[in-house]
Amino acid sequence: MRPAPPATLLACALLSVAGCASTAVGDAGTGMRDAAAGASATPASDPASVGPVVAVPQIARPQGETAQWWYTSGAAHAARNGAMSGSAHNVIVFLGDGMSLTTVAAARILAGQREGKPGEEHLLAWEHFPHTALARTYNVDAQTPDSAGTMTAIASGVKTRAGVLGIGPAALRGDCAASVDARLASLLDIAQGAGLRTGIVTTTRITHATPAAMYAHSPDRNWENDGQLPPEALADGCRDIASQLVDPRSGRVPDVVFGGGRMHFLPLTQVDPEYADRRGRRADGRDLIAEWRTAHPGGAFVWNRDGLAAAAGRSPVLGLFEYDHLHYEHDRPADPGEPSLAELTTAAIARLSGGDTGYLLLVEAGRIDHAHHEGNAYRALTDTIAMSDAVAAAMAATSDTDTLVLVTADHAHTLTFAGYPIRGNPILGKVVGSSGEEADPDAYARDGTGLPYTTLGYANGPGHVGPSASQPAGPKHHLHRARDQQPATGRADLTAIDTTDPDYLQEATVPLASESHGGDDVGVWASGPGSAAVRGSLEQHVLYHVLVQATPRLRARLCAIGGCNGDGVPVLLSTAGDASGAAPVGATRDVVRPAAPR
Ligand SMILES: [Zn+2]
Repeated sequence: MRPAPPATLLACALLSVAGCASTAVGDAGTGMRDAAAGASATPASDPASVGPVVAVPQIARPQGETAQWWYTSGAAHAARNGAMSGSAHNVIVFLGDGMSLTTVAAARILAGQREGKPGEEHLLAWEHFPHTALARTYNVDAQTPDSAGTMTAIASGVKTRAGVLGIGPAALRGDCAASVDARLASLLDIAQGAGLRTGIVTTTRITHATPAAMYAHSPDRNWENDGQLPPEALADGCRDIASQLVDPRSGRVPDVVFGGGRMHFLPLTQVDPEYADRRGRRADGRDLIAEWRTAHPGGAFVWNRDGLAAAAGRSPVLGLFEYDHLHYEHDRPADPGEPSLAELTTAAIARLSGGDTGYLLLVEAGRIDHAHHEGNAYRALTDTIAMSDAVAAAMAATSDTDTLVLVTADHAHTLTFAGYPIRGNPILGKVVGSSGEEADPDAYARDGTGLPYTTLGYANGPGHVGPSASQPAGPKHHLHRARDQQPATGRADLTAIDTTDPDYLQEATVPLASESHGGDDVGVWASGPGSAAVRGSLEQHVLYHVLVQATPRLRARLCAIGGCNGDGVPVLLSTAGDASGAAPVGATRDVVRPAAPR
């Protein structure tokens, strides 16, 4: 054991003010290993610790896991990994929603096979990055997480509950009154406070969980428009997610917002600009798009590719390219006006770059997750390849010397990659080759009953071969709305079925209307200044701390509002209002404000 340096003592003193150190040691031998390994318990010879030491209180888990404890423990791990030595000017986070490691492996093969190669040797854009890690994705109340809790961890540095956005673990999902004091500052708030330009790009509704975790505080991810809030939540001061984007807590809207979801911005009386037969969903009569245009006369609202091109030179820009989510990449040709994720990424970087202060950009490939839920590997993989194209575009438009690029997923799915297909076998096809060393390498492998099977499958979902109210027994096709699923009486004979068809649903063992998330780790890939801190096995919320520690303007902003220890490591929670420089939106539970910034 090495003696605690002065910085550690200072941090401990600050933490004791927070009351975070008062909890009893419960399972310090296991539960604290992650954080304590970077604190005073670290052996002096520990080669893994390359940065300032941050003391983390020993707590009983899970009951001692406050927002402040998560924040400090994440800071400790990032500092231990050397993130404080980063000098990033710009930060780009790519989030593949539901992009499990199996999804990445299968997508790289499909991408390679589309180029005429066997595929296994192919690499997606981020697989060329120099630094990788694994992230543990669980929510504080869920072994298998959801996108709201996981993106809040990445955006705010605090692991929290499933279903909440920008809210710490002290408040239960849906409890507006409790959530007011549990609001967390996000990377977007900090970046805005630091003067960076900011952007959010997604293929989902812009009010969906992942993008919303950057700009909204909502104790329920489903409160996307005002009509979705219960009356008591409105009475307790909660606001719908769409209104928080247009009327932001910081007073500043992001410079670039590209996504879908016009439905939650328009009133029930307003006809959608793209679809004459659709109207908005807002019950309060507000036209948030009109309000945004009035508030930003120099900006541009756009909803298709031509509008985006015509808005060059105008700022900010609000691009809502669909009534609901954007199309899957496979289906996008049906809507010629809809830009690809790579186009949107390129346009966002062009608008954000060039300033003195740098920028923060989130790009989400949000529909990998949706295709998995629908049991359709084809669309999940093609949307993953579309994200690879977007990452390649970002790498071409930025420099490794000043831009930290991080690629990860929020959680996994149940996609499986199995059997013994021969090298180069179509990844969406049936297994051909040796199920045993003696088997005919040109013949379909057979299951124990003599039937062929595919390489890809799902543990559960709408691809179960039993009958449902909408599709008969046997292989299922997209889009299968699987009501009243019945047990299968056996496997389907796939001999004459083209399983590489885009609409084929991979076989699912357990019948579920919606395939579920997986609880396994996801990958993290990083490039640029500070990226060397992305290594080893990380709690997911550590990623926030790597990003703020590796970006001098972000960590300086947090230090300026009193969030840092004596080594300049951001270790204390701050409010969204303090971080963004706006009027505080409410006191935050667990917040400590030291007497003077250090
Ligand atoms: Zn999902």
